[in-house]
Amino acid sequence: MEIVRTLAGAGFEAYFAGGCVRDKLMGIEPDDYDVATNAKPDEVRGLFRRTQHVGESFGVVLVSLKGRRIEVATFRTDGVYRDGRHPDGVTFSDAQHDARRRDFTINGLFENPLTDEVIDYVDGQADLEAKVIRAIGDPQARLHEDRLRMLRAVRFAARFAFTIDAPTAEAIRAAAGDLHGVSRERIAQEVMRMLADPNRVAAAQQLQDLGLDAAILGEPNLTVAPTRLGRLPDSAPYATALAAWLLDRHEGQDSGLSDRARRWAAQLMLSNAQKQAMAAVLETHEVLRGAWSALGVARQKRLASTPAFEEALAILQTIDPQTCTDIRRRVLTLAETQLQPAPLIDGRDLMARGLMPGPVFKRVLDAVYDAQLEGSVRDKEAALMLAEAVAGTLKPSSERPSR
Ligand code: ATP
Ligand code: MG
Repeated sequence: MEIVRTLAGAGFEAYFAGGCVRDKLMGIEPDDYDVATNAKPDEVRGLFRRTQHVGESFGVVLVSLKGRRIEVATFRTDGVYRDGRHPDGVTFSDAQHDARRRDFTINGLFENPLTDEVIDYVDGQADLEAKVIRAIGDPQARLHEDRLRMLRAVRFAARFAFTIDAPTAEAIRAAAGDLHGVSRERIAQEVMRMLADPNRVAAAQQLQDLGLDAAILGEPNLTVAPTRLGRLPDSAPYATALAAWLLDRHEGQDSGLSDRARRWAAQLMLSNAQKQAMAAVLETHEVLRGAWSALGVARQKRLASTPAFEEALAILQTIDPQTCTDIRRRVLTLAETQLQPAPLIDGRDLMARGLMPGPVFKRVLDAVYDAQLEGSVRDKEAALMLAEAVAGTLKPSSERPSR
């Protein structure tokens, strides 16, 4: 408001622009506000004490005010797009042209916060009412300019439960196979935002229906129902959502699951932590679905103590609640004798007994901890005796502990 007031006071046109206007009209508190103005970047910088020039060639100035940083962009018309993502250049223009260079009608609105007037050159308000995502201008041309817009269309449609207008959807379908010009990072970021949202299933469905899944995931287009994904709790982490969607897409093809997970991780540029989390959820899910009941107490307790356990259960719950109930009952029973008790002995105890630190250490400690989890070893004395016995079977005689 203060930025708009300052610009207007200096005789410029200045409005809230784009997503923040859309969100306000929908009754959603905007995450951030963008300002559009006919003031040139130099003129914007002249009016505010703390500014940064961020998008030099796009006429964007970042104004810092009262601990917030707001993008102030000069009205512009984009030049030709040659790389499938960015215009070669921009020319400064007026509000109407600036509205028309934006992607979708609902994103092309301005608001004058000093008068509460909405300035709508693209019929964005009608589309907000009708809950429609519609490209501004010729959909095919607009999506060819910047192919990221295909993913943005899906993200907004899913997030607001809007439909994509038929000609826009057709244009996406026709161009879906080719995301050239859009970096892997940008694609990955869009997909993460879609799948982190509670409406993630609508996004997945839409990506599949429009044929965008192939280019995003690096595998053939599939139109399976994302049942597991759709039934996850809203709060499910990204790695869990990906694992659920992967299982939905490859129902009944248990072999090769980990290869697919690795490919998704690469395609979607997952961090190591996300990648490991997804792999662990898939592996644990596999066990819970099959071998779980035949596992020994120690292995069940170890598995039930991992972060992946609850996530895998959440996925299994979506299609097999009965098995989940059985597993949860079993875990309650196991918990009566502690799932993760403090170990009775550690490496220092082994060294005190003359055992040299080395690869055998971990195997001895694991075996003793298993016995502790199973309840066959209940105190330190018994634990140490078992450790020596196990070490004896693992070590050459010369290294056997002296006691
Ligand atoms: P959100 O930030 O909630 O995802 P948003 O609409 O604010 O949604 P931003 O990426 O912050 O999206 O962009 C702000 C505005 O800039 C948009 O509302 C739209 O008018 C315009 N815009 C953003 N990306 C593009 C694009 N790829 N093509 C055309 N216009 C765009
Ligand atoms: Mg925004």
